Amino acid sequence: ENHQEKIDYVFKVVVIGDSAVGKTQLLSRFARNEFCFDSKSTIGVEFQTRTVTIKSKVIKAQIWDTAGQERYRAVTSAYYRGALGAMLVYDTTKRQSFDHVARWVEELRGHADNSIVIMLIGNKADLVDLRAVPTEDAVEFAENQGLFFFETSALNGDNVEPAFFKLLEEIYNVV
Ligand code: GDP
Ligand code: MG
Repeated sequence: ENHQEKIDYVFKVVVIGDSAVGKTQLLSRFARNEFCFDSKSTIGVEFQTRTVTIKSKVIKAQIWDTAGQERYRAVTSAYYRGALGAMLVYDTTKRQSFDHVARWVEELRGHADNSIVIMLIGNKADLVDLRAVPTEDAVEFAENQGLFFFETSALNGDNVEPAFFKLLEEIYNVV
């Protein structure tokens, strides 16, 4: 959409969180409306883009994906450089991925700009029978840390657009 229009802003957004929480699939869902069932762990792809209109401004979201460097402190500072927003993803069926969110926030506070807008994402919300992280736990954490929060499913697409749009809108409000 909007390919012919002049771009008003380019917003760099980084996607972080433990391995296998669905970061790459969330990105594919938002950028290309695709979900890939046989995706291997990410190799090589640096970022995907999608151009959207928010408050009459044409915004190109340049969304960066980790290339299998999700071990704690393995993501380099170059990855965070210039990032205006972060999608911090955990898996609602894996308690450990939620327990690690605090580390990822610490990592962001250490490497990214102070003004970075952080969206906490509980992904795989479609797997209701395997749920391991209650919504209230994440709501409480997000409120304490000043993060925005959505539960999503990259698989069926639930809440993916609202989460990305909210993040981009909040970035727009601070730039
Ligand atoms: P990443 O390592 O964080 O980039 O995770 P991937 O995007 O590669 O996804 C890891 C695994 O979780 C893959 O097998 C995906 O098919 C699966 N997955 C990702 N998102 C969802 C989701 O929303 N629902 C379900 N059921 N599976 C998902
Ligand atoms: Mg990946």
